[in-house]
Amino acid sequence: MHDDRAVVEDRLARLLSERLRPATRRVVGALDVAAWQVDGEPVPPAVALADGGFAPFPIGGAWGPPWGTTWFHLTGSVPAAVGEADRVEVVVDLGWNSASPGFQAEGLVYRPDGSVHKGLHPRNDWVPVAGRAVDLYVEAAANPTVLQDFRPTDLGELGTAGDAPIYRLARADITVRDEELAELVHDLEVLSELRAQLPQGEPRGHEILRALSRAMDALDPADLSGTAARARAELADVRSRPAQASAHRISAVGHAHIDTAWLWPQRETVRKVARTAANVADLLETYPDLVYAMSSAQQFAWLEEHRPEVFARVADHVRQGRFVPVGGMWVESDTNMPGSEAMARQFVHGKRWFLEKFGVETREAWLPDSFGYSAALPQIVKLSGTRWFLTQKISWNQTNRFPHHTFWWEGIDGTRVFTHFPPADTYNGELTGQEVAHAVRNFRDKGPATRSLLPFGHGDGGGGPTREMLARARRLSDLEGSPRVAVEAPAEFFQKAEQEYGKQAPVWVGELYLELHRGTYTSQAATKRGNRRAEHLLREAELWCTTAMLRTGADYPYETLDRLWKTVLLHQFHDILPGSSIAWVHREARETYERVANELESLIDGALRSIAGPHTGEVAFNAAPFARDGLPAMGAGHPPAAAGVVRVEPQDGGFVLDNGLLQVTVDNRGVVTSVLDLRAGREVLAGPANLLQLHRDEPNRWDAWDVDPFYRDLVTDVDGVTELSVAGDTVRVSRVFGASAVLQEITLAAGARRVDFRVEVDWHEREKFLKVAFPVDVHTDRAAYETQYGHLERPTHENTSWDAARFEVCAHRWVRVAEPGYGVALANDSTYGHDVRRVAKQGGGTYSVVRLSLLRAPRFPDPDTDQGRHVMRYALVPGAAVADAVRAGYEINLPVRAMPGEPAPPLLHVAADPPESVVVEAVKLADDRSGDVVVRVYEALGGRATARLEPDFPVTAATESDLLERDLEPDALHDGLTLRLRPFQIVTLRLRWRS
Ligand SMILES: [Zn+2]
Repeated sequence: MHDDRAVVEDRLARLLSERLRPATRRVVGALDVAAWQVDGEPVPPAVALADGGFAPFPIGGAWGPPWGTTWFHLTGSVPAAVGEADRVEVVVDLGWNSASPGFQAEGLVYRPDGSVHKGLHPRNDWVPVAGRAVDLYVEAAANPTVLQDFRPTDLGELGTAGDAPIYRLARADITVRDEELAELVHDLEVLSELRAQLPQGEPRGHEILRALSRAMDALDPADLSGTAARARAELADVRSRPAQASAHRISAVGHAHIDTAWLWPQRETVRKVARTAANVADLLETYPDLVYAMSSAQQFAWLEEHRPEVFARVADHVRQGRFVPVGGMWVESDTNMPGSEAMARQFVHGKRWFLEKFGVETREAWLPDSFGYSAALPQIVKLSGTRWFLTQKISWNQTNRFPHHTFWWEGIDGTRVFTHFPPADTYNGELTGQEVAHAVRNFRDKGPATRSLLPFGHGDGGGGPTREMLARARRLSDLEGSPRVAVEAPAEFFQKAEQEYGKQAPVWVGELYLELHRGTYTSQAATKRGNRRAEHLLREAELWCTTAMLRTGADYPYETLDRLWKTVLLHQFHDILPGSSIAWVHREARETYERVANELESLIDGALRSIAGPHTGEVAFNAAPFARDGLPAMGAGHPPAAAGVVRVEPQDGGFVLDNGLLQVTVDNRGVVTSVLDLRAGREVLAGPANLLQLHRDEPNRWDAWDVDPFYRDLVTDVDGVTELSVAGDTVRVSRVFGASAVLQEITLAAGARRVDFRVEVDWHEREKFLKVAFPVDVHTDRAAYETQYGHLERPTHENTSWDAARFEVCAHRWVRVAEPGYGVALANDSTYGHDVRRVAKQGGGTYSVVRLSLLRAPRFPDPDTDQGRHVMRYALVPGAAVADAVRAGYEINLPVRAMPGEPAPPLLHVAADPPESVVVEAVKLADDRSGDVVVRVYEALGGRATARLEPDFPVTAATESDLLERDLEPDALHDGLTLRLRPFQIVTLRLRWRS
């Protein structure tokens, strides 16, 4: 026969859009509308309902300045002609545009008593009506659509977004839903979408096409309702054929990815969570087959605080196992940049919250959307009592296709975690025929593995699953030509997948690097600086408050530390710390970090004063895990005396600094041209160092996220000097470039084995990338980068497309390049982005150019990203072994504190073999408030180590625990306070003691 596929499908498309979908809702009455626009920020529902000055409001009326809140009061009665059996629904259109749910206006519907009914968004715009009277309130949020082709916009900050209304209330109707027609629509959609995916050569698609055609013939346009059943009957046969024996199995998980802040501020996320959770609760109560997974303890906590009655409904469904907490993290954080302890605490605070509120131990790390995954994660995940890992973000790779969807992921210490990447390549699935077919085609582990996971529900800005998605899932459960779709919890998927494939699954070793969004290691420098500073202040606060408690009986500030930790963890969310949120979010982040730092400084100060006592001498405190300048590790001593002298000589318009260990030459451009390592008799540099380099930075899209490889094509050295001077052991260089100014300070302290740099930038560039370069005379093909509890190596060559794609990478406090016998490290106090490349040397060999990424200036989503003043510090450490790099990283981030008082012995000494191989990352009191001291150490060099912990307090028992401070099975390798560690192993000890 002739091929009429296009004709039939065109007929169906028009029938669905013009007749059938609209006919599923019959308007039976209009509602009276009154409105009250909140003056300023949102108010609690009780305030709005009691005090709102509601005035009549017309359909078609404009409402909502950007970020404003308008309360609509909808009243009316169901006409007498509507029968008791009819399904009556209110349908509201707040003025939706065609953009996705969660990126525009949203609403939350309340009953007159203030209880929450359900959320409203463009794909979920209805409210069920029980009884004959309608009396509803809608809290409508005029969230603007910030994302419009990545064009710079002022909509991302309250003060610049304007105050003209941006929405019009388009409808508020009482309708009757035609269930049979709605079912017919689902039948037609599912079969037509399935047909489009089927092979042309097989009969199944042709049979479906004929059935679709017959169904349309059976429909009478003049009586759609009356003929819907007849049309459905024509489809019954093709709908009832079961899936093939070998059909792929999809575990569909109801979900809403809700970004904790992004193109909206945190306060809006509080409401987004309420809207989505209310929707989901409503669906769970109506559709027994739904299972819904929600991550981020912070979002549950917001719900509990701000919409307790929705939280109570959620808690009820959690108990029934259908609303499933997943992820076990405080937020879905970035994992590249959070420091060791913070990465651990994401799991500690997230998992503990779920345990305490629900008694639920989450078993799957759930990070569908973060921008790459650190090679330290598998061990942290496992030590938190988590078993599986999920993301799909690596499908966004620009260059290389990841070879597995289900595999064992092995971290730097060798820990393996069973991992799954949903092959549907989305965390916002809608269960369309195209999506499920793509999941099957794309799944790389077909053969030995037969199942994959698919999160479905509107996300990013929330929304969640809809009844339409559930209708599809039901039809796809057992349908010839389709994968089998079962709605179930992630743990059910993981259990079955691991059982089936665990023995054969391939292994991926090292980080899951995202070949995209490489600018997120640098954008919004103040947010990064705030995070780094807060992490180290938290270390100090815990250490010194523990010391003060043990030495003087001072109170330990459990509540304050818990709250501050959670604040810092919240800001590690994958659009805050990476710098990819609107201006509003980053302004608030800066203000919050300031408050956090002040509170921590005051805790630290109080603890140190208590330890130092009412003495008149001078005492210096060293929070670093290594002794330095005569001060014990994590202890106090008399302030160090100057260790020798620094000779400073003018030379050719520049200066030479010499402390007997290093000799540093700064030329008349203020550039470091030589660093002589006098002990090793070796020139460290292979070219001008501490050289600022300015690149054009105009990514193809995703401005704040991306730096594209062509940024390297255009570079200007910033070496024009306006002032060059020396003061003491510091050379000061002032420069002006573009609209910006910079002061660089180069310091060689007496006795120092490193050169310290401080840079103060008044940054007013647009779409530029500022780096600082250190060409070091080291021939190597790899570099080591600090990550959580250790480091990883990455090649510095571009042999393969995988190597070439890593042209910008993340490190924490240090990077190191080395050849046998000699290494050079570069440590920093607040930056994360790095690139290291190899350059051929004249006369043979190569050298390595190590660069720190200091500042960017993208225009979206914050048009003024990073404008203003920044201060950063970094240090070049010649002759650095790995241990020296680790030490420099701690030292530059933990300055010595001096105050009046007398030294007291440190709480804890660690005798490690090899020396400095075992590092104390945290000393704190146990979260259970038992008074036990918790000490977390890790092996930092990547080798075997033994360590003896020597506490200076009366320890009665030492037990190994997991990150949540729960006892672990005793490890035969440890004997009380003597530990034997494997490379990069993390060990947490709980020390009981008597006073
Ligand atoms: Zn996200």
